[in-house]
Amino acid sequence: MTAPFVIVGGDAAGMSAASKAKREGPDRDVIVLEKGEWVSYAACGMPYYVKGTVEDLEDLVAVTPEEFRQERDVDLRTGHEVVAIDPQAKTVTVEANGERFDQPYGDLLLATGARAIEPPFDGIDLEGVFTLRSMDEADAIEDYVTAVDPETATIVGGGYVGVEMAEALVERGVDVSIFEMLPHILQPFGEETARVVEDHLREQGVDLHLETAVEGFAGGDAVESVELADEGAVPADLVIVGVGVAPNVELAEEAGIELGPTGAIATDEYGRTNVADVYAAGDCAEATNAVTGEPDHVPLALTANRAGRAIGSTISDDPTPTGETAGTAIVKAFDLGAARTGVIDPERAREAGFDPVHVTIEAPTRPHYYPGATDLTVTLVADRESERVLGASLVGHEGTKRIDTVVTALTTGLTVSELQNLDLAYAPPFSPVWDPILTAAKVLV
Ligand code: FAD
Repeated sequence: MTAPFVIVGGDAAGMSAASKAKREGPDRDVIVLEKGEWVSYAACGMPYYVKGTVEDLEDLVAVTPEEFRQERDVDLRTGHEVVAIDPQAKTVTVEANGERFDQPYGDLLLATGARAIEPPFDGIDLEGVFTLRSMDEADAIEDYVTAVDPETATIVGGGYVGVEMAEALVERGVDVSIFEMLPHILQPFGEETARVVEDHLREQGVDLHLETAVEGFAGGDAVESVELADEGAVPADLVIVGVGVAPNVELAEEAGIELGPTGAIATDEYGRTNVADVYAAGDCAEATNAVTGEPDHVPLALTANRAGRAIGSTISDDPTPTGETAGTAIVKAFDLGAARTGVIDPERAREAGFDPVHVTIEAPTRPHYYPGATDLTVTLVADRESERVLGASLVGHEGTKRIDTVVTALTTGLTVSELQNLDLAYAPPFSPVWDPILTAAKVLV
């Protein structure tokens, strides 16, 4: 009998792999070891739980533990933490209910995800200071907002979690400040898009401070103020620290599994690590960048789900590549959407051997005579000589999902001229005859 497929981590990557492996090979045992109690949850929905758009935290669960066990025949063990891997013996050491045991594996998938970075700020352990990564943290933030009814909140970091939480807390009646160390928020989206979102945040009453470093927090038991590097202290009844994530790689490292240049687990196109029969997927692992061909670490949900699913097929004798990442992302900021894909940063494009040129245009999302048109700002980046599409960033009140057209173009290696000639759908309620993406391509060509 084949030894079980053991998966460490029970969220997007882990449960996608478990479900696929069971579908492809129903006779093989699939064991998922998850240290927490939540599995298959949509972390992406957590800001909308705090905001109140999603009523119950349980609504964020895609498939319940009972469904995995009873309907999908997955041996799912919550409250089980893997603390070591022995690749020679092909076992993992598990801690559960105060006991330790070794679990043998035939194939092993590391789907341990990432964790929120907690800078060594003074006062980071004060009550009312949170990061947002787990369902328990979402629950704790919502409880705190309800119990304390904070007047002021500070968000440290202007990434997508910070922006989404600003919207959520404003909706809850809190005065929100964002402190961002860099010159602009939403750094991966590029300056043109960031500026539009920054103006909009301010219009919505968010007190946005750029190039402002936070040094720590002060208070009694609970946080009362945020200490800034140059501007003294500002009051805060609640703090969300959203300064990025770090891949959970310690288990892998201790077992001699190689990390890549980004610090996440290095994998080949099938998600295999350098150690036989050990795979890695999701936020703990690297993926190949679709534009540069280099290893990249883009901790996002589709990458995790897709890689997990592919590995579920591969270990079932159907070798399936995990797919590349274009770094595609989209975020809602109050009434605006912002989206990005590919390589936008000129420095990064040059490092990858390109000579980037870009254009930024504003174009209406519908013809002038049709109600509801708004401007979409499109930044399109291409390589000067080859004309290959390298990336794009979009921002506007509607239509930012048009980024998917650019994703298709850069993934298939289209030039700007070829993008310009795509036969995109047109009718007045949906688009002008020249879609904003085509207009940007026309200007850049
Ligand atoms: P995770 O979801 O981190 O799951 C890893 C699991 O492994 C965890 O349950 C953990 O408890 C478990 N684990 C770790 N170590 C061990 C161990 N040693 N033993 C046992 N279990 C272990 N992505 C998007 O694409 N779009 C969005 O809009 C978006 N919004 C987001 C909003 C927020 C607030 C957050 C936090 C994330 C968001 N993401 C978004 C990112 C997305 O949620 C992640 O990319 C995705 O969850 C990654 O899945 P994963 O399975 O790799 O890791």
